[in-house]
Amino acid sequence: MSKTLTGIGASSGIAIAKAFLLETPDLTVEKTEPEDQAAEEKKFDDALASAKGELEKIKEKTLNDLGEEHAEIFSAHLLVLSDPEFVDAIRGKIRDENVNAGYGVKEVSDMFVSMFENMDNEYMQERAADIRDVSKRVLAHVLGKKLVSLAEIDEEVVVIADDLTPSDTAQLNGEFVKGFATDIGGRTSHSAIMARSMEIPAVVGTKEVTGEAEFDTMMIVDGIEGTVIVDPTEDEINLYRKKQEEFAAKKKEWAKLVNDATESEDGHHVELAANIGTPDDLEGVINNGAEGIGLYRTEFLYMGRDELPTEEEQFEAYKKVISDMDGKPVVIRTLDIGGDKELPYLDLPKEMNPFLGFRAIRLCLEKDDMFRTQLRALLRASAFGNLKIMFPMIATLEEFRQAKEILFEEKDKLKADGTDVSDEIEVGIMVEIPSTAVMADTFAKEVDFFSIGTNDLIQYTMAADRMNERVSYLYQPYNPAILRLVKMVIDAAHNEGKWAGMCGEMAGDEVAIPLLLGLGLDEFSMSATSVLPARSQISKLSRAEAEEAAKKALDMETADDVKAFIEETFPSEVI
Ligand code: PEP
Ligand code: MG
Repeated sequence: MSKTLTGIGASSGIAIAKAFLLETPDLTVEKTEPEDQAAEEKKFDDALASAKGELEKIKEKTLNDLGEEHAEIFSAHLLVLSDPEFVDAIRGKIRDENVNAGYGVKEVSDMFVSMFENMDNEYMQERAADIRDVSKRVLAHVLGKKLVSLAEIDEEVVVIADDLTPSDTAQLNGEFVKGFATDIGGRTSHSAIMARSMEIPAVVGTKEVTGEAEFDTMMIVDGIEGTVIVDPTEDEINLYRKKQEEFAAKKKEWAKLVNDATESEDGHHVELAANIGTPDDLEGVINNGAEGIGLYRTEFLYMGRDELPTEEEQFEAYKKVISDMDGKPVVIRTLDIGGDKELPYLDLPKEMNPFLGFRAIRLCLEKDDMFRTQLRALLRASAFGNLKIMFPMIATLEEFRQAKEILFEEKDKLKADGTDVSDEIEVGIMVEIPSTAVMADTFAKEVDFFSIGTNDLIQYTMAADRMNERVSYLYQPYNPAILRLVKMVIDAAHNEGKWAGMCGEMAGDEVAIPLLLGLGLDEFSMSATSVLPARSQISKLSRAEAEEAAKKALDMETADDVKAFIEETFPSEVI
């Protein structure tokens, strides 16, 4: 009988196909005292070599199919297998405690996994998944078992798994794998990110899909709504086939807009830009017709390594993004580390409230050398296109002035050395702290632009930690309190002849878009795959009507009232 499960829509689209259960073979091991200890060590060494060989192949395939950024995950896996601390700990266990190879692998990897899981840092916690993934591969080889291979799928299926590891995801063949659903995972897990770039509909975090589905059970995965239907009725299949066709038709329509400017029905132009984390994301930006880059989160360049990136490395990354965008605006944000994004190699003391702590510009102003290195790389790259520099987490005017002064000092030094630096660089700030939104009129006299970071602005305004799911109901982009702050920032910019953008998640939100258009936002920056639907939505909106609606929303009582009103007034773009 049909059963509907709810999860998190990780990648939009609808898939209807039979289930392929990605079951892990039984990898349980008992502890034994082997007669031939050398043979156990050899067994481990052989398994290690086979696992490395497999990973090299997967890495190669990923590099070809998905690009460097995704392939890096497997470099990280290979690094685990080459890490003497990890490998020697296993050998030591087998030798010193005279245990079988499988037990040695299991014990040591469990220990490392729990060590990483207990670290107070999302990035390090994610590394636990890498170690688990890689150890499973080695253990399967030790035990002579075969991991179910997704690469062998040769008919249309929906993959069902407890979790999909990055190596599983890389093996998904888009021709046959129509979608996937998992028990665990969130929107930002590696597999969700990969699903979005592969455009495979996916729902993660259903908690129970593996318990409900069997091999060949018919499945519907609705990545738009975040639901999974196990064993759907004929009527449900027909309904979703129609939805699927509608979505495909929508995508085709959206694709036609790839080279268009973004204009409301009554001819008001806004700019639709994309957010990126690395130069590898550029392909998606260009394919989806973004008119610029509204936020390049440079911190990813600093993460997943054990020392600061050099000026040269940074220069190359920034130059690539700026020149590939071919004169289109590129807003690069200086390092925003701290909060949930830590850099272990900076060795910073633990904080009680990291989101209210030593973060972003606060840290850069103190670690002057590190900041200057980044600024020099940016200034040098500015000669290759249309760069705008943005400082994150600005709370006071003094912080902005200090940051700008350091920037100009470096600029003068470079120019004195004869280095080519653009004289057209705009310098702006993220508005993500309420004090700055409230003082926007004063800031507007000194900045070239604002970009509203609603992910943080909402967490600070509502006093609700963005990482804590128990208070996630307070993430209320439509709350009139937020709308009023957004209006203050936009009006302040316009009064001084400056522009105001938004690069928080709210900018790509279907309900928020009419409100933001009505409030006069000039630039909307969002994930690349949201650009075309947003362009389509805006082309059907009248700026005058949106203005009218925004005015009403500002006077409403609750976020729910605003949402209901917008949904009633403006039709939905995505089905
Ligand atoms: C924001 O706070 O809205 C933002 C875009 O920055 P981040 O999500 O990187 O904190
Ligand atoms: Mg932020």
